[in-house]
Amino acid sequence: MKPAAFDYCAAASVADAVDFLAMHAGAAKCVAGGQSLGPMLNMRLVRVAGLVDISRVDALRRVEARGDVTRIGAAITHAEIEDGEVDDPTGGWLKAAAANIAHRAVRNRGTIGGSLAHADPAADWCLVMTGLGAHAVVARAGGEERIALDEFITGPFTTVLGDQDLLLGVDVPKPGRRAAWGYWKFARQVGEFAKASAAVLIDPDNDHFRCVVGALGRQPLVLADARALIDGRLDPRDALESALANRPAPELTLHVAALDRALAQARSTEAGA
Ligand SMILES: Cc1cc2nc3c(=O)[nH]c(=O)nc-3n(C[C@H](O)[C@H](O)[C@H](O)COP(=O)(O)OP(=O)(O)OC[C@H]3O[C@@H](n4cnc5c(N)ncnc54)[C@H](O)[C@@H]3O)c2cc1C
Repeated sequence: MKPAAFDYCAAASVADAVDFLAMHAGAAKCVAGGQSLGPMLNMRLVRVAGLVDISRVDALRRVEARGDVTRIGAAITHAEIEDGEVDDPTGGWLKAAAANIAHRAVRNRGTIGGSLAHADPAADWCLVMTGLGAHAVVARAGGEERIALDEFITGPFTTVLGDQDLLLGVDVPKPGRRAAWGYWKFARQVGEFAKASAAVLIDPDNDHFRCVVGALGRQPLVLADARALIDGRLDPRDALESALANRPAPELTLHVAALDRALAQARSTEAGA
């Protein structure tokens, strides 16, 4: 099948993209890598009056240090991060996560912004960026807003982005010198979405400790007592079962294992471990 007809605009700037979205008043979308939107348009699960291509907008294709964060432009591809073509403020954690997303053909086109805006519950960047305590940077009518990833993704395939909002990028905090990271993804085969995933950040210099679980059919789950999990005072199964009390315990087995492994990985790379 082919998509229904739509107006097309290749944006040269953020202003072009924002104007196009405003002109179509909720009936247009932006397209970045097209890896998720393309199939949905082809199957006519989504219909749009207009499509604005943001993949070549310079301002969305930069990675820049801004004080204690690094802003990764929304149109940076998974492959550019994997290949180290852009700065990785985590010293390699992003590079490793990118290499684990889908197949190379998808990574060549798919973007970090598209992935966050699409908010697939099993998406790697949604979990990684929530795990790092990153902020989404959004252009909207009232100006630019920074929104913590925990609040940006509100449910499966749902974010706070409005019809005319544009995700400009993501602000990743610079981890401290002694920071350690664990990331585990269970997928049935290489190139597939996660069946269960977890990320753990141990950053004593910034007093930043995070344990997040993904691929739960909802937004990434940020566990309340990360310190207790990291120190081994709280059992991962108990933490997950109490956070998701309405789910049958056996459904969480793979997620518990993912969290266990991410914790072990982070602890093993902690300074002095
Ligand atoms: C076979 C296959 C396997 C995959 N496996 C994985 C995997 O293992 N892990 C994983 O994480 N992902 C996986 N993906 C998804 C892939 O990472 C996509 O690249 C990503 O989900 C969407 O990025 P995109 O740039 O292609 O976005 P698009 O498809 O262009 O857009 C997706 C949605 O986001 C919106 N959007 C895009 N950019 C912006 C922006 N800047 N501001 C506002 N809205 C925006 C679009 O309007 C659209 O609604 C897979 C995809 C395929 C096809």
